This record gives sequence, C-alpha cells and structure tokens, in this order.
Amino acid sequence: MSLAEEIDTVTRESAGSVDRHATSRTFDSTDPATGAVVGVFPVHDAEAVDATVGQARDAATAWAALGFDGRRQRLDAYRGYLARRLHELADLVHRENGKPHADAILEISLAVDHLAWAAGHARKALGPRRVRAGMLAANHAAYLEYQPLGVVGVIGPWNYPVFTPMGSIAYALAAGNAVVFKPSEYTPAIGAWLAAAWRAAVPDAADAFQVVTGFGDTGAALCRAGVGKIAFTGSAATGRKVMATCAEPLTPVLMELGGKDAMIVDDDADVVAAADAAVWGAMSNGGQTCIGVERVYATEAVYDRFVAEVTAQVRSLRPGSDDEATYGPMTMPSQIEVVNRHVEDATGKGARVITGGTDDDAFPGEGYVAPTVLLDVPEDAAAIREETFGPTLTITRVRDAEEALRLTNDTSYGLAGSIFSGSKAKALDLARRMRSGMTSINSVLTFASVPALPFGGVGDSGFGRIHGEDGLKEFTRAKAITRQRFALPTNLMSFRRPADAADQLARVVGMLHGRHR
Ligand code: NDP
Repeated sequence: MSLAEEIDTVTRESAGSVDRHATSRTFDSTDPATGAVVGVFPVHDAEAVDATVGQARDAATAWAALGFDGRRQRLDAYRGYLARRLHELADLVHRENGKPHADAILEISLAVDHLAWAAGHARKALGPRRVRAGMLAANHAAYLEYQPLGVVGVIGPWNYPVFTPMGSIAYALAAGNAVVFKPSEYTPAIGAWLAAAWRAAVPDAADAFQVVTGFGDTGAALCRAGVGKIAFTGSAATGRKVMATCAEPLTPVLMELGGKDAMIVDDDADVVAAADAAVWGAMSNGGQTCIGVERVYATEAVYDRFVAEVTAQVRSLRPGSDDEATYGPMTMPSQIEVVNRHVEDATGKGARVITGGTDDDAFPGEGYVAPTVLLDVPEDAAAIREETFGPTLTITRVRDAEEALRLTNDTSYGLAGSIFSGSKAKALDLARRMRSGMTSINSVLTFASVPALPFGGVGDSGFGRIHGEDGLKEFTRAKAITRQRFALPTNLMSFRRPADAADQLARVVGMLHGRHR
C-alpha cells in the first residue's frame, strides 16, 4: 500500500501514520477543489508535543554521532525514496494543496535537489577547520566548527508544503539536528507523508524527523518545548507571535515571512520575456507564493507594449482542478476575502481592472480567484502595500529605472524581486540596490532553485537564511577551540607577567598598527 493510500484509509480512530499520543481531538484536512476529506489528524496538545520533542532529543544524539558521512548516506536514501515516489507525493500535494500535478512535480523536484546539496555540502560548510591564531596567540592552534543545536522545530506554511519546509528540514538534518515539523493545518497529510517516508527510508534514525499536527496552539507548544531553534514560515503577524512565545524560553528563531515583491522592466528589456515571467511569477500557484511578483514598475518606453503583452498572456490562463488548469483553487479559503478587499480598495481609489477582478465572467467558481491585472493603482492602496497572496498583478508606469527602484524599495517588506534589462552592468547595479534578500535578473524566482544561494528577507520579510552554506550554518552554533602548542617566555595573561610586558606589547602594537591613518 502506498503512503498516500495509507493516509486515505485514515479514520478518526487511527488518525493515520501520525502518533496520536493521548490526544483525543482530531481535525480534517480537505481538498480545496472538492471539499473531500484528504485525511484526519490529531490536534496535538503541549503534552504530545513535549513527548515528541523528547523522542527527537534522544534521536538527535545518535543522529549527530553519525557524522557527516553517515548522515549524508541516510539523507541520500531519503531523497532517493522521494524521487522514486515523486508522482505519489505530487498527487497528494495536488489533492491537499490544490496546485496542478505538474507544479507539484516541480516543487518536489526542487526540494529533492536541495536535499542533495545540503547533504553533500554539510562537511565543507560546517566541519572542523583550523583558522589562523593571529599575533597575540601565535603559540596556539585555533579550531572552528559548527555544531548542531539538538532539535529544530519547523513551523511550515501550506503554499509550498514540500519545498518550503524542506528548506529548513533538509538543512537542519544535514547539520546534525533532529527535526520536529508542524505543518500548516491546511496541509497536514503532506507533512505526515514526508515523515512517514523518512521512517521508511531511514529506519535506523526514524525519530530524527517527526511530525506534530494541529493548529496555532500546537505550533506555540513547539515554541515552548525547549527546542534549539524554531524555523518559521508564514505571515509577519504570526511571526511576531511566534517570536514573542520563543522569547519565554529564549529559543532563537528564523523568520521567513511574506513579501510584496516587485519586477522592474527597464527601457531596453525583452518585453515579451518580461511579460511571460511576470505572468508566471504573479499567477502560478494562484499567486500564493511568498516570492511571487505582486507589483511591476515598467518604464514609459516599454509600458504600453508590456501591458498589451501581459493582457494577451493572462487571457489564456484557466484556473481549475483538472490536469490542463494553469493554477488551482485558493488553498486557504479566507485568502479570497483578502484578495477581493485589495482589488476593491484599488478600484475604489481609481485603479483599472484589465483582466479578472471580483466580478469577472471567467471567474471559475467558488474557491478560485480569476487572474487579475490592475493598472493605475495608487501607491497607498492595499494592493501595493500589503501582501495580496493571490493571482493579481499591479502594473505601474514610471519615468525610468531609478523611479522604479525607489518605488520597489518603498515597502516594509524586502523578500525578493526581479529586474528585466538589456544591460548587465545596470541590472546588477539595480539588483544590489534593491532592498531585498534575493533578486533575479531577466527571470523570476530563479534564486530559489540554486541550492548554493541563501534564501531569506529583510524588514517585515524576516531574518535568517535557509539554503546554501548560510542555511546550513543557521541550524548550528559556532564552536571555537584553541590549543596551546608551546609556552612563550612571557605569558601576558598571567599575574606573573613581568611589569614591563604591557609596555612592550604597546610598542609592538604601535609599530604594527599605528602607521594606519
Ligand atoms: P500563518 O502565518 O498564520 O501560519 C503559518 C504557520 O504558523 C502555520 O503552520 C500555522 O499553523 C502556524 N501558527 C499559527 N499561529 C501560531 C502560533 N501562535 N504559534 C506558532 N505557530 C502558529 O499563516 P496562514 O497560513 O494563516 O496565512 C496567513 C497569511 O500569511 C496569508 O494570507 C499570506 O499572506 C501569509 N503567508 C505567507 C507565506 C510565505 O511563504 N511568506 C506562507 C503562508 C502564508 P495553522 O496553520 O495550524 O494555523
């Protein structure tokens, strides 16, 4: 029986492959397209979360003791397992999250690639190394290494229910931590599947990756459970609550929050390519993408052509739940109200809807949002200032790329962004000055598919990094060690040092550093 079939056979009594503990409460996860129940899961209380973290703590010791090679071997087995069951997991993602099967395959493929990179690069990024001891400790050897934190708690979202949490899970495991994962209440079956797959692929370290399910209270219990770090992905509002809870036990946090990412289309850009990327960046996954394109600033030279091209491309999109659909239903039903509020606020302030909108004829039905493009949206509208998280795009005419950059940066968020330009030098300069953690030039979202590149934001988009060497280090603490190799005739850090030792040191420091002005 496949893991997905096992989840299908879950009853209120068994609550599936997730350890129920003493909890009696359960909740249903449903298919956002049909409302059909996908699985039944326990609402884990604080006691259950503490027990799971306790088990993970025991497992963490053995997992860390496996060393880089032992962990790599098992992480490779896990990625092999996921790759062999890619379609099974993609089908579950389609049913529980709503995205098209093809998009689910893309998402899982990216996660598998990150798993491979994290496992393959952990030793180089984190392993013991010698560093130069410097003048004042020349008789010592100095060692640096990055040690695991123990158990890492991962609180995940529903929009990329495999790729996003795996950005923390894979890197935390590769760094030698055990992981307890609390998936979103909208995608618990996918979280349970990932943990069950781990148990099947890595039976000798089964408790190194476990799942707890439930609502916000279960996540809060994980914050209080004495874990070494919480990696959170979600809204800035909930991120603040998570930080406040983590402040009680002084648990460090990694915050991957929302975004209001912009694309800049410059005078000499390839307009057709920019439009294609903007439509994909804004509308794929129903716009439920933290690094999705929500705003475009196009210069006067290209604005009309760009709007015409986007309009033509958007008209061919068709949301739905079948295989040919370009994107699926909104995973979290309440998000539809947010999107509608942003569109209505914009039109109330004078914006024009060129495709979609709240009363569009092509509206595919309850649970869906039509692809919506808005022009002339004032900069103080919610559609420009707040995360919309739906298949919408604002396009604003600007004088030049400098004005585009100023408006791009005029936001409390700072997750990512993109630039379309014919000039490499100008694009790189704009990218460096874009106030965001990530920027792609002449494409969108590409940085997320480069495992060596860190992923994270600034401002209200959070702090800390997943992916890359920074992402591995995020789940470790630096450990510094010195070893005296031989004793010097004069030990400056001794009460027995000669009276003139400090004066001699001052002379040496003066000679070495004093000439610098
Ligand atoms: P939240 O930020 O509320 O939830 C994210 C995760 O945190 C979920 O697993 C959630 O559990 C959990 N959680 C909720 N409350 C607490 C708490 N007090 N302590 C610990 N964990 C908690 O996001 P939503 O799913 O409600 O979406 C709301 C908005 O967030 C969206 O409209 C969108 O704008 C944004 N968002 C951004 C994402 C991104 O990638 N940047 C991803 C998802 C959402 P549970 O699901 O059980 O409530």
